[in-house]
Amino acid sequence: PKKAVVKSRTAELSTGPSSLSWNGSLAAERETGYVVDSEKGNAYYKGHLLGKGGFARVYLITDIATRKQYACKIIPKHQMQKIHMQKIAREIMIHKELNHVNVVQMHHYFEDTLNVYMLLEACPKKSLVDVLKYRGHVSEPEARYYMKQMVTGVAYIHSQKVIHRDLKPGNMFLSEKMIVKIGDFGLATQSDGQRRRVTICGTPNFIAPEVLFKQSYSYEADVWALGCILYVLLVGQPPFDSSTLKETYSRICNHRYKELDDTMASRAGQELVRWLLQPNPELRLPLDLVKEHPYLTQEYVPSTLPDSCCYQAPRLP
Ligand code: ADP
Repeated sequence: PKKAVVKSRTAELSTGPSSLSWNGSLAAERETGYVVDSEKGNAYYKGHLLGKGGFARVYLITDIATRKQYACKIIPKHQMQKIHMQKIAREIMIHKELNHVNVVQMHHYFEDTLNVYMLLEACPKKSLVDVLKYRGHVSEPEARYYMKQMVTGVAYIHSQKVIHRDLKPGNMFLSEKMIVKIGDFGLATQSDGQRRRVTICGTPNFIAPEVLFKQSYSYEADVWALGCILYVLLVGQPPFDSSTLKETYSRICNHRYKELDDTMASRAGQELVRWLLQPNPELRLPLDLVKEHPYLTQEYVPSTLPDSCCYQAPRLP
């Protein structure tokens, strides 16, 4: 029965009205200042804007009855093409099934004539992109702390047969307690076990070579992205970064990047990054071995981090 509901919801989402005006949608939200789920009878106070995405605006909202806070991703339906509605329906279908401490929880979703609403676990400490903006790069113990949680989260996602396909610092959200929460499943895909031919998607700096070479790709493309994220955490710049997209792609294809040295990471850290950035996906380290790698098991990994780490280096042993 659960599946049937999901199916009909998906159908609804992909055929929503498209003739409503932008101004109409904005005015409706501004005037009311709250979000209502009429089907469940829940109402939420609308707080400040947390961020904007391609189509979406994300607000902090508070359930009036329970006082619980959520991040509400609001996607206006107006002028939305059918293909976009289908993509949103797919994002919801994939995300709503995931339940793990290192994944942004999707609590609920609903819609009205104007918008689609996703109620997400609120991540008030923003994301690793904001940490990098303030800090430039982070210390090794911090990098290990974030990496361990990202690896655990991605291993869970893969265990659910989902490939995220857009792992990057901006999608690594941080909870109140500085726990990493992987979010934004807008490009995720459910794997059927077959290797797939690619449509290029993902963020240029973190795209795996097999994706660029238009070969098949699978879970290993996420492992590559984790290597890029660990690198940028330690160095402050993505490994294949350049001023033009063409040059970045050329560097990825030719595997041209400045390897980490002793000033940037321990020997174990250097080795782990090398294993993650293996150009041949079949030789890339599988996540169960990444979890066991000495960098994450034999070197110091803090069990918690203070939220001051978003702005300044912590005092760690
Ligand atoms: P899109 O898929 O359209 O890119 P995102 O899901 O990336 O949208 O959300 C856009 C922005 O909203 C993010 O960059 C972030 O600033 C903010 N945001 C998204 N989800 C959350 C969340 N769970 N908690 C706090 N802020 C969030």
